[in-house]
Formats: sequence, structure tokens, C-alpha cells
Amino acid sequence: METQARAVMRCDAVVVGAGFAGMYALHRLRQRGLSIQVFEAGDDVGGTWYWNRYPGARCDVESVEYQYGFSDEIARGWTWTERYAAQPEIMRYADYVAKRLDLRKNIKFESRVTSAIFDDESRRWTVETDRGDRVFAQFCIMATGCLSASRVPEIAGRETFRGPSYHTGAWPHDGVDFSGKRVAVIGTGSSGVQSIPVIAAQAERLFVFQRTPNFSLPALNAPMDPDFVEASKESFAADRKRVRATNSGAMMAANDEPALGVTLEERQRNFEARWGRGGFAFMTSYNDLFNNIEANRLAADFVRDKIRKIVTNPQIADLLAPTNHPIGTKRLCLDTNYYETYNLPHVTLIDITQTPIERITPGGLSVGGREYAVDSIVFATGFDAMTGALLRIDIRGRDGLSLREKWTGGPRTYLGLGIAGFPNLFTITGPGSPSVLVNVIIAIEQHVDWIADCIDHLRANGFSAIEAQVEAEDRWVEHVNQKADETLYPLANSWYVGANVPGKPRVFMPYVGGFANYDRICAGVAAGGYEGFSLA
Ligand code: NAP
Repeated sequence: METQARAVMRCDAVVVGAGFAGMYALHRLRQRGLSIQVFEAGDDVGGTWYWNRYPGARCDVESVEYQYGFSDEIARGWTWTERYAAQPEIMRYADYVAKRLDLRKNIKFESRVTSAIFDDESRRWTVETDRGDRVFAQFCIMATGCLSASRVPEIAGRETFRGPSYHTGAWPHDGVDFSGKRVAVIGTGSSGVQSIPVIAAQAERLFVFQRTPNFSLPALNAPMDPDFVEASKESFAADRKRVRATNSGAMMAANDEPALGVTLEERQRNFEARWGRGGFAFMTSYNDLFNNIEANRLAADFVRDKIRKIVTNPQIADLLAPTNHPIGTKRLCLDTNYYETYNLPHVTLIDITQTPIERITPGGLSVGGREYAVDSIVFATGFDAMTGALLRIDIRGRDGLSLREKWTGGPRTYLGLGIAGFPNLFTITGPGSPSVLVNVIIAIEQHVDWIADCIDHLRANGFSAIEAQVEAEDRWVEHVNQKADETLYPLANSWYVGANVPGKPRVFMPYVGGFANYDRICAGVAAGGYEGFSLA
């Protein structure tokens, strides 16, 4: 891996992060003739997949969809082995792309960006890292990821624990052997749901501490059928084009009829068929599951029934069956044998809904006056989503305006791409864009292409800076809120609204208006000469 001397550098654009967004931004902008410097905190590409190496880590978007679509050649040159790729395979894919495109030569690894400061006079960003690098650049592109700022909650006594503790989002690279160990897992979101069955298969004793049960659907992962792989390569370009024209951003066709418009038998048949197919397609069984509470309840009842059929102890089944939020309004999980795991005699579910973990002690965890002795603790406690990675960097725009100050009431962006007061700073899959609600690779490509075209436009027309206008940003934030309010999403205490981080302003962060609609809006803005942006 290339190492570069510490230096003051000049380039056209700094890209922060070498995950899938940063890798593609580097490729696309370099192709357009820009000089680029990428900084990455990890020692290799891969972003969220570089850090999330917990047991069972696996993508919950199907492999044939969770890959770059910008190059048919790259797609044809790669062969996925499983329906849902596991973390190591995704890292191999990232490596394959990095090698094909010779990306690493412009990436400085093990370098965490600490500040990005805009200078009003030179209209340049100064970006600094914890390794002492300083770069002056016209553009600053934040490819920092939506789920990259991991969070360990403040639980009294945490530092007194004698054994090792791990966060799923910062897992040791050489793995962890839980054989013969008593293990506590805190958290039952996607990371918990994926890791719990795998840890249970190793550990002598497993205690799962559950604050909120989550709905989980069966992944039905399986080795890839070679004929299917070949066929999907043939149709890849056409499939991707078709998917980019959908609001769901997913291959499986959404059923465009309301759940309440069909008979009970028909509905049951359809739910059953989609459940049996595996994956998130269950949630597009009907077109009203996200905006009609009654329709949503029918889908939720179906899943709760499934949980009760799988889990043999009815009290445990009740604890696992979510009732405090509509299905899908907290990010759904996909699992392999999650509910079945609670039938194992050495696995215990501890409900901490009413009685939180009181403290962590040197030998375990204490809840409701009872001590659970464990050797290791796994924090599957999630992320400061969407804003955390940006706000951990000291970002200052025009007139020294700090992003932390600007966003004290929650994130405000125009299209999730630009921020008023921060010229020439772009966010990839930023708050206010569909990002986490769709296949994020499709969202990334759409953003990077838009940014590349925007920079071309600036250069071709002799502009040196672009900045979102406050009025356009206000209108966009209002539109994002309004779209969210048309759905059931705001009813849940999810990370979409920042509810998992104490004190975080409650704002529905992603754009729920649909990928294709959003893409059209962005294209319209560009076609209209970057409406809502000021070009200088
Ligand atoms: P998460 O969904 O935010 O789940 C965190 C869990 O920790 C929740 O159950 C939460 O409970 C619990 N928790 C947090 N603080 C706690 C505390 N102080 N005491 C007890 N419990 C606490 O995080 P995640 O599972 O890491 O997943 C985050 C997102 O990453 C997912 O939603 C998904 O978008 C993505 N992801 C994707 C994949 C994949 O592709 N397969 C895998 C993993 C993650 P509450 O619900 O009550 O807050």
C-alpha cells in the first residue's frame, strides 16, 4: 500500500472517506480531470464494511444489486458466491474494484480528517488530518457514510468491566473466539440480529439485553446458482437502468395495490409468498404498508404470528414480537436463524424495556438488582447515524460558520447534497437524500454523478464556487419533513429520527419521497442551471 510523506498539498478536491462513496467519487472525478486526495481512517478501502467485521456481518441487500452499476465491465468481472454477501466477500469486492481502477494511489490511509475550514478570500477548503496533513482544495466532498460513527452508550461502570468488550461497528480485525465464554450482547438492531445466532453457536452462555424488539425477516441466504449469476451478468445493465427508475430502488417489483383492497385469503397468500422468498420484498407486498396504520398492522400481525410459531417459549416470543412501532418504521432486519436462537437452552433474553441496565460491574451486568456474570460484552448499539460522522469533524464554512452550530436543531441541507453557508462542500448520501432508505450504492452513484456534472458545469462556465441558498434549503427541509409526515416513519423512536442518541434533535433525516422522484428533482435542478444554488 502506498505511503505518502506528510506534506502540505494542493488539489482540486479532497474526498473524505474511502468507502463505496469515496471510491466512486475518486474514480469519477479523476476521470473528469480533477486532482484528488482521499483520506481514509482505516488502513484499506471498504468503509463501513472495513469496520463492521462482527460475526455474521452480511449485506441485507442481494449481492447482485449491492454492487456498482457504473461499469458493466466491472460487474461482469466479478462473481458473487452467495445471495447475500458476507462481510469478507464485500471486502474482496472492494479490493477488486480498487485494483481495477487503481484507486489506492490517491488514497492516504490511517488518516482521519479532523477539520475542514473554508477560506472566504481564496475560496479554498483547508482539510487537516490527525497525521498532520494539510490540503488546500477547491472542493471538499464528504463521503463519510451514514452509519460510520459507532456509539457505545453511557452505562455506569462501563470502564470497570474486567473482560474484553467490543462494538460491532469497530470489530477486531483478527476476529474474536467466544468458545467457552459467557457473553452479553446489548442491542437487537440489524447488527445484533445478525451476530446473535453466530455468537450463540460458539459461546457457552449468551445473554441478550433487549431494549426494543425489532421486526426481522428471513434472509434465506444461499449459495448463488451459477446459472443465475451468469444470467444476472447478462441482464445487469438493463436491470440497473430499470431499478434506477423505481422509487424503491430495488429489483423486486413493488405490488401497487393496497393491502386493505384485497381479501384476507389473498393477502395471506401474498404475505406468505413474499416471506417465503426472503428479504425486504415483504414490505413491498402492498403500496400502503408505510402510510396506513391499519394496513401496516396486518403485515405486522403476520410477522408477529411467524415469531410466535418459531419461538417455543410463549413468554419469550411475546418479548420478541414488537408492538411499540409499526413494522418497517425502525430499520427492518434480515436474519438467519435469529428467532430460532432463543429456543437454545444456553441463550437467555433479558427484557430491559422497563428496567434498563443499571450498571456494568467488573464481572458482568446488573439489571433489576440481578447480576449477570459474563466474560465478554458485545455492544451492538449502533451509530450516531447520518450526522455523526460529519459532526465529529470540525467543519467551518463561510464567515467561520461551524456545521455543529448550524445543525444544533438538526441537519439542514439542500437535496442532501449542499449546505447553505458551506460553498463547494458536497455531502454524498447526506441527510435529506434517500440514502439509507434505498440500496445505498445506487444512491451513492446518483449523488457522485450529479456532483461530477455540477463541477463540470462550474468549470465550463467559469464559476469557482457553488453554494446552496438558504431559501432553497428551507424549502427542501420542509419538503423532506412533509414527505416523512405522510408516512408512519415518524411514529417510531428510530435512528432515522436520531432517537437512539440522547439529546440528538428529533428530525426525520432521510428523504422518503422515493429514489426515482428524488433523482428527477436533482436532474431538474441541474437542468435549470442549478436552481436554488448560488454560483459565483
Ligand atoms: P441499531 O439498529 O441502532 O440498533 C442498536 C440497538 O442497540 C437497538 O436495539 C437499541 O435499542 C440498542 N441500544 C442502544 N443503546 C442502548 C442502551 N443504552 N441500552 C440498551 N440497548 C441499547 O444499530 P445496528 O444494529 O448497528 O444497525 C444500524 C443500521 O446499520 C441498521 O439499521 C442498518 O441500516 C445498518 N446495518 C446493516 C446491516 C446489513 O446490511 N446487513 C447490518 C448491520 C447494520 P433501541 O432500539 O431501543 O434504541
